Amino acid sequence: MMTPWTRALLDDARELILAGRYRSALDCVLTVLSVYPALAEAQELAATIVYHGSRQSPVEPLTRQDMWDTRLDELFCSCDARGCTAAWMSIGRFMPGNVAVANPIGGRCEACDQYFCRNHFGRRNGCPRCRRALDHAPQVSNGRPSGQMVRLNQPLVHVQVLREGTGVVSPEYMTDLLSWVAPDVFEDSPTIRALSIHPWPDNPDDRAMMQVIVEHDEFGEDTHDLRVSNGHSKDGSRWAIVKVFAKMPKYVDPDFPS
Ligand SMILES: [Zn+2]
Ligand SMILES: [Zn+2]
Repeated sequence: MMTPWTRALLDDARELILAGRYRSALDCVLTVLSVYPALAEAQELAATIVYHGSRQSPVEPLTRQDMWDTRLDELFCSCDARGCTAAWMSIGRFMPGNVAVANPIGGRCEACDQYFCRNHFGRRNGCPRCRRALDHAPQVSNGRPSGQMVRLNQPLVHVQVLREGTGVVSPEYMTDLLSWVAPDVFEDSPTIRALSIHPWPDNPDDRAMMQVIVEHDEFGEDTHDLRVSNGHSKDGSRWAIVKVFAKMPKYVDPDFPS
């Protein structure tokens, strides 16, 4: 919803873009998207920032962490070829009309409603399924798989990390892992617990959830939302993370408090 609060944040973002301050601009827009994820003006501006922020060398370049923010996931296009992980921002997400794209990195087939990256549409520049010409600047997108853990518009109050292995979990490991998969940890200053586990359990998610409830039974109550994920670190060791959110809004539109 376009309220004075929303408009002020989006105006700030436009000014910051002109100054080449892409990170600060994205912050403003992501705050709006936290409250209004489907607001078209905010989505367009986010797409502009991501598109230009990854191509130009601005004063404040976007980091990998910014680019993988889950609030941007649905704006991205991703390749539908099996096993392909390519994802890109379509210029059509913020520039409507017929846009000619030189050296397109991806495109959408309107007949198949499928998306293909450059590696998969090849030199013929057509849909690999039906051979029709691709739209290289679609105004829609099919989203991308999340590269970070879920974020809610609720304050993060506690984080439990389980890591495969023995011994003390180092602060370096924690900073590395959390900035990679859960950067909101550094916005909300939750309490953080880490535990090494060996052998690694068959159900790491359940084991991590259990650890939270054993240490803090209050987080098992209706006043909190718990989310869990597991994966691999760069060194191949496995991890599971529980995020505990308090059930209250993190960002509130003061002009339209819901
Ligand atoms: Zn591909
Ligand atoms: Zn097709």
